[in-house]
Amino acid sequence: MPKQLNESTLEGLRANLRGELLLPEDAGYDAARAIWSGMIDRKPALIIQCLGTHDVVQGVNFAREQGLLLAIKGGGHNVAGNAVCDGGVMLDLSLMRSTHVDPKRKTVRADAGCLLSDVDHETQLFGLAISGGIVSHTGVAGLTLGGGFGWISRKHGLSIDNLLSAEVVTADGKVLTASSEENSDLFWGLRGGGGNFGIVTSFEFECAPLGPEVFSGIIVQRFEDAKAYMQFHAEYVRTLPDDMTVWMVVRHAPPLPFLDQSVHGKLVVLVPFVYLGDREKGEKLIQPIREFGKPHAEAIGMNPWTAWQSGFDGLVPHGARNYWKSHHLRELSSACIDKVIEFAGKMPSDECEVFIPHMEGAPSRMPENATAYAFRKTPFVLNIHTRWQNGGDDEKCLAWARDFHGSTEQFANGVYVNFLSDEGEQRVKDAYTEEVWQRLTQLKDKYDPANLYRMNQNIKPSA
Ligand SMILES: Cc1cc2nc3c(=O)[nH]c(=O)nc-3n(C[C@H](O)[C@H](O)[C@H](O)COP(=O)(O)OP(=O)(O)OC[C@H]3O[C@@H](n4cnc5c(N)ncnc54)[C@H](O)[C@@H]3O)c2cc1C
Repeated sequence: MPKQLNESTLEGLRANLRGELLLPEDAGYDAARAIWSGMIDRKPALIIQCLGTHDVVQGVNFAREQGLLLAIKGGGHNVAGNAVCDGGVMLDLSLMRSTHVDPKRKTVRADAGCLLSDVDHETQLFGLAISGGIVSHTGVAGLTLGGGFGWISRKHGLSIDNLLSAEVVTADGKVLTASSEENSDLFWGLRGGGGNFGIVTSFEFECAPLGPEVFSGIIVQRFEDAKAYMQFHAEYVRTLPDDMTVWMVVRHAPPLPFLDQSVHGKLVVLVPFVYLGDREKGEKLIQPIREFGKPHAEAIGMNPWTAWQSGFDGLVPHGARNYWKSHHLRELSSACIDKVIEFAGKMPSDECEVFIPHMEGAPSRMPENATAYAFRKTPFVLNIHTRWQNGGDDEKCLAWARDFHGSTEQFANGVYVNFLSDEGEQRVKDAYTEEVWQRLTQLKDKYDPANLYRMNQNIKPSA
């Protein structure tokens, strides 16, 4: 406990909160500081479980006045682990999960602790959805502040492209609205600049009409055909309309019920897709993928949107050790595919994945500097998900990810800030173009010159 935090200081803080103030000896402290990645085991001096904007303001003012490090937990998913700090104040926003849909305007307001499942749950009541990620227990806050993409972003834009406004608590404890009309410079920076400029307490999104079912599924290609399939995939998916999104995941086959037991645990190429039109047209578009080689199996059909959105959750539950490395690829070239196949063959655990989403579509038609999210024209992302259970395997798992990443650097241009582990200052810069970085630094000077918000992929103020 930092010296200055005596009983009366803490009592003063507690008296001003609607939520709980948790100290290390309190029940609930360990659960509140736990995040998705089991690699991260940090112990804040105190945790404020915020129940609203007032609590957030109290927490920000307290941390600033006491000179304490401040960490913000939204969904707690981020692999870098910045949602929790050692010794400082952690603002746990995960209880702020109110979600309100305006079906007439086709908008939703989601509080800062919402998971994607919360928003899907409420918006689907009105046949609506937001553009978000593909695992339902991911936090809306961190995902959106980095950019946010998933199954419908090729058609409807990134999460930030659908953000209408945000309520923000700045480092001086003020509550601002950021939108294209109000504090538009802050609004620009929030859309890709992460939590560097303020704490967003709620987000207002435009929704897309969707569901309740979507034509979607997985085709499982053989690893023996991986080279030929990936070469085909690299070209084919780029010809598809924005309504069809097809990704690729190389991993050891999980025990999926539609896969023959003999395939379980073998290396495979999973080809999941979502089509936002009618089934008949979708079947035609997907046919060349089904006919390629001799797929092991497929599970294709009309699936409820909420079921599809949580269909991959079971592969990435909380608590495992995780280390990610990622880049944006200039193209999915033959030489890059060779590296993917080589490193897939050396995966250090059966839970590792090489995840290759196709990105082009509505996001890439927006001007490159429309928001702080850079590299909008990226065709593919190469995401190296290293996942394992035992601390004793750390060294070999980290080495695999780093070697794989290093040997594919030649094909890369930039990185998605939300896929960075704790990789140092230069990697944060790599997530932005020079022009965007300069603008972000100016914003940091304006909104957080003392760098109170630094437990993040940090953009330092210039002074
Ligand atoms: C299994 C898995 C699947 C994923 N899938 C996708 C995907 O499909 N698409 C995609 O785009 N990304 C995806 N991601 C990446 C994801 O976007 C990031 O991990 C994101 O940071 C998670 O947000 P969170 O709120 O859950 O995380 P947290 O760890 O709670 O927050 C991450 C950081 O964001 C900042 N932050 C959080 N809340 C706030 C707030 N309210 N105000 C200001 N700053 C805040 C803080 O700096 C914090 O350290 C995935 C991640 C995982 C682990």
